[in-house]
Amino acid sequence: DLVRTPAAVADAERWTAHNYHPLPVVISSAEGAWVTDIDGKRYLDCLAGYSALNFGHRHPTLVAAAHAQLDRLTLTSRAFVHDQFATFCRGLAELCGKDLVLPMNTGAEAIETAIKVSRKWGYKVKGVPDGAATIVVAAGNFHGRTTTIVSFSTDPDARNDYGPYTPGFRIVPYGDLEALAEAIDDTTVAVLLEPIQGEQGVIVPPPDYLPGVRALCTSQNVLFVADEIQSGLGRTGTTFACDHEGVVPDMYVLGKALGGGIVPVSAVAANADVLGVLRPGEHGSTFGGNPLACAVAAEVVALLKTGEYQQRSAELGKRLHADLSALIGHGVVAVRGRGLWAGVDIDPALMTGREACELLAERGVLAKDTHGSTIRLAPPLVVEPDELDWAVERLAAIL
Ligand code: PLP
Repeated sequence: DLVRTPAAVADAERWTAHNYHPLPVVISSAEGAWVTDIDGKRYLDCLAGYSALNFGHRHPTLVAAAHAQLDRLTLTSRAFVHDQFATFCRGLAELCGKDLVLPMNTGAEAIETAIKVSRKWGYKVKGVPDGAATIVVAAGNFHGRTTTIVSFSTDPDARNDYGPYTPGFRIVPYGDLEALAEAIDDTTVAVLLEPIQGEQGVIVPPPDYLPGVRALCTSQNVLFVADEIQSGLGRTGTTFACDHEGVVPDMYVLGKALGGGIVPVSAVAANADVLGVLRPGEHGSTFGGNPLACAVAAEVVALLKTGEYQQRSAELGKRLHADLSALIGHGVVAVRGRGLWAGVDIDPALMTGREACELLAERGVLAKDTHGSTIRLAPPLVVEPDELDWAVERLAAIL
């Protein structure tokens, strides 16, 4: 039984703002796809830090890189160059097929960077009149929590009471090319989209959508900015979710798994005609691209260059989606997703997503609900096939 857990949960609640409603699980150690709580109970981690733990907890190569770097150099600021910086930036630029990389720390910061770069590109390169730039985004988006980013959220919880809001954004329905075409005009500098909407419930757009967005952006001289913070870096069975449709955006926005589950690392990657608009003093971050972050993230990039994790995600993803689809009509209404990433709509007559996640946790599976009756499954890509089967059996059992 969970002896120490209730008091530890209460203690955590006592000392922080209540901007989260965590499941009552107090984790104290982890390895690979498994975590252990303070009462010694083990759980299969099917959330994986919202995909920040694609390589599992404490991947040996990543931990070794962190240890080695801790013993040498951790922080310089960008006032100086350090010896890990180029290795990481070159590796990530190559992985993305882009000229340049700009490292930041969190996803929201990388999105802010993408917005600023797009606007500057609009004024300096495209010739949009000063202050007039517009960016087209999709309803149901999740790009982070800053005041500018929540300004174009359609989720009242994320947005309400945080105004005044940043202008310059047009919201169109996700997956609707006609609406997107109508929203683009001479002032439009970028279309910012998640290739799969994660927080909205793992929403996969129609197959012609991303190619259509690419074609529109090219013909209208607009940057296609793909937020691959959650969908990227192996999660969907390819390096980027855009790869499934053979689409190459003008800018990739990355985060989460880029830090290997060890340090916060985010980045934008684009060609020199885009990222080259930034001059000294015009943008920055004290911690962005720090030596510890670069050392770990360079190893993340090296893991991805083997293709092994993408392949695991693709193969295990087939198994996961086949197993989950078999539950449709047995307590599950719909299943969406790609690779090791699934949004599972539980029959709302049975229970809420929250209740499902509480029951799963009792049975040793960690997952997170999103939007009412949807639960999201995104185990680390190092999960074993029999562990996946076991997790789906637990889900079947609670239904
Ligand atoms: N973009 C997407 C698609 C995300 O899923 C998230 C986080 O969930 C973010 C941006 C924001 O990242 P962060 O929480 O690191 O700021």
